[in-house]
Amino acid sequence: MTRKILHIDMNSYFATVEQQANPLLRGRPIAVLGSKAKRTIIVASSIEAKRLGIKTASGLNEALKICPELVVIHGEPRKYADVTRRFISIFEEFTDKVEIFSIDEAFLDVTKTANLFGGPEKIASKIKRKIRDEIGSWLSCSIGIGPNKFLAKTGSDLEKPDGLVIINENNKDNILQNLPLERFCGIGRAISRRLSLLDVYTTGDLRKCPIACLKEEFGVISAWKLKQIAYGLDISPVISWREQKLAKSFSCSRTMNRDITSRDEIKKQLLFLFEKVAKKLRDDNYWAKEAGFWFRFKDFSGHGKVFRLGSWCCNGLEFYGLSLKQLSQIHLHQPVRAIGVFAGRVQLSVNVPSSFLPEDKLNQQILETMDSINNRYGEDVITRGVLTGVKLKEVVSGMGRKKF
Ligand SMILES: [Mg+2]
Repeated sequence: MTRKILHIDMNSYFATVEQQANPLLRGRPIAVLGSKAKRTIIVASSIEAKRLGIKTASGLNEALKICPELVVIHGEPRKYADVTRRFISIFEEFTDKVEIFSIDEAFLDVTKTANLFGGPEKIASKIKRKIRDEIGSWLSCSIGIGPNKFLAKTGSDLEKPDGLVIINENNKDNILQNLPLERFCGIGRAISRRLSLLDVYTTGDLRKCPIACLKEEFGVISAWKLKQIAYGLDISPVISWREQKLAKSFSCSRTMNRDITSRDEIKKQLLFLFEKVAKKLRDDNYWAKEAGFWFRFKDFSGHGKVFRLGSWCCNGLEFYGLSLKQLSQIHLHQPVRAIGVFAGRVQLSVNVPSSFLPEDKLNQQILETMDSINNRYGEDVITRGVLTGVKLKEVVSGMGRKKF
């Protein structure tokens, strides 16, 4: 069944909220600054300022040169968050599946509810009207409708302000073909520059480009993601922000400086990563009931294991101990390029029954003590003896996301 997804993007959000609050600002070029620091950048410019070429992320001095009468405002995050809450509750009148993508963007899955309101287009126009009537007449949004999140987002980006674009099987290829690659969510300027080195400038080129070339340049996950973009495919579900909070999982991964082959070295890295993930769990007051790990081999093939934990856990050493049995079942036929671990099925610590066993209590105290020392004096000031010398290096992955 074809899904019906809406992506809603508020136009020039912070700036229009300011104009909504103060009618004297309406129709004038205004810029909202990120902070009161001297060298701050513009985080939002009004539609009028954008027409003059003042873009988000430009410097203030530069902007004032273009437009000396620019009205400069210091942003008030609380005010914007409040308006966000109000438009999210409007969206929830049409479906329970509302995913907050950023402070001014959301995805709605209306597959099951569209018929109640006369179809997704009707929902889009109702939402536009409700935002104007119930929040403010100056606020507008661009909406994209598509069979998946990627195409809905591509659609909302096509007409600004106040746009409504429907992407379906009939017009999909035409739209994808005619857009520069950097317009797509997940590509951006840096990736499109690297793609141009492979002679890839359009989605058509991207479709033709052999997957092996993309894997070589961007790594296996990003390569497949780029291929999916080329065909406008995206199976990711819209996860309601209410569920999102609960469906949280914690992960940590790293690409090795050099490929590793020794099982002992792999075990050491696993312990190191599980310690990191467990620390993240404890920092956010979560416990997990499931854990797992994966390897990426030299030829970019992968292998991984997921295992259930007998009891709630937030102790890296315990995760590691349980992973060893799984590890023994894996045939390491090639050097390992990257390792990742995760903890899932998490629950807030207040909901987790605490253990009465003296050794569990002692372990918990040791962890709390280690955390308090590390939180105060810096990461890994105190760690397990076997891990001394293992350092975490930050690697930026092909898709521009920071990875460990
Ligand atoms: Mg926006």
